Amino acid sequence: MPLQLPPDFATRPTPFYLYDLDLLRRTLRAAQQAAQPRDIHVHYALKANANEPVLALVREHGFGADCVSGNEVQRALEAGFAPEHVVFAGVGKSDAEINRALAADIWCFNVESGEELVVLNELAGAQNRKARVALRLNPNVDARTHHYITTGLSANKFGIGMPELAAVTDLLPALPHVELVGLHVHIGSQITDLAVFETLCHRVNELQLWFEHRGFVLPHLNVGGGLGVNYQQPDEQLIPDFEAYFSIFERLLKRRLGQQVHVELGRSLVAQCGTLVSRVLYLKESQQTRFAILDAGLTELIRPALYQSFHLIENLSSQGPEQLYDVVGPICESSDTFGRQVPLPETKRGDLVVLRTAGAYGEVMASRYNLRDLAPAVYV
Ligand SMILES: *Cc1c(COP(=O)(O)O)cnc(C)c1O
Repeated sequence: MPLQLPPDFATRPTPFYLYDLDLLRRTLRAAQQAAQPRDIHVHYALKANANEPVLALVREHGFGADCVSGNEVQRALEAGFAPEHVVFAGVGKSDAEINRALAADIWCFNVESGEELVVLNELAGAQNRKARVALRLNPNVDARTHHYITTGLSANKFGIGMPELAAVTDLLPALPHVELVGLHVHIGSQITDLAVFETLCHRVNELQLWFEHRGFVLPHLNVGGGLGVNYQQPDEQLIPDFEAYFSIFERLLKRRLGQQVHVELGRSLVAQCGTLVSRVLYLKESQQTRFAILDAGLTELIRPALYQSFHLIENLSSQGPEQLYDVVGPICESSDTFGRQVPLPETKRGDLVVLRTAGAYGEVMASRYNLRDLAPAVYV
């Protein structure tokens, strides 16, 4: 299906984020249809996109919420997610954030260090509560994705490393205000090699045995998120292959009787439904290259500057013969470049140019650098 534009797009000021809620609905339904029969619970990672219409649809489809800040916990609760469907992860939760989440009685804290466990116990005790905890382990599994979005290697700051795990679990008997309910791993994002998830399952099975040998029962296994999307050719796969993804966990996780399995998907649910719409401000040529200068920049979509990531760029206004352009934004940074030597039909001032697959880690990362206005969201 071609890109759905709002009826008044020709006169609408740019840049803006465009969200196709019908595609979002179909994506959520596909994920739910793959997860539910396998009895796998999906928590949506709010950090990918926390817009209210997006959250409302996610909640309506029966997903929980995976939050990485106190404000995300609050946003999830405001969007109507039940506290018992909210998990709180993050390598640096502040006391204030923990206190708010405790007061809301969220389902689970994914704890990333021994010190955090001790602090959580103290804060829960002060509120006369018992916090449910999953230990986030660093399984040292290579996600084979960009190194800036790899989180499960021992060089990364996330999770509890295997050498420290025994010391952390040894703390538990002396901490009456935390209750271990499971283990959690999340090894990275934009994972397109599904074999990585197979390796992850084998590691989780080993980790589960490690706990059981020490007498811990784990009612919950949370295997994190990370399923990738097709940035190169979004129209070839607008909806990721959730069947293939969930079937790996169904096949390979050694699930104990009554044990619940959770995944935390962000990008794969919302990336394709979002598009950044901009106009060409100027064309300019240097000795080496021809620049198309857009009115959108890294302030609206920082992924190319931050992780050298690729977004498909399309000119919706021109049918001319193709030429190569360096497509750049107006921000005073050389890294404010969306793509180099991008083939586009002959492009002129005023043309509508879109960056596809911008629904995840796009608008949520917007900044006001150069004192720019935040771009609005439009829903179709
Ligand atoms: C970011 C994040 C996710 C979601 O990752 P995606 O790649 O967007 O699916 C899940 N769990 C945790 C703990 C995260 O930090």
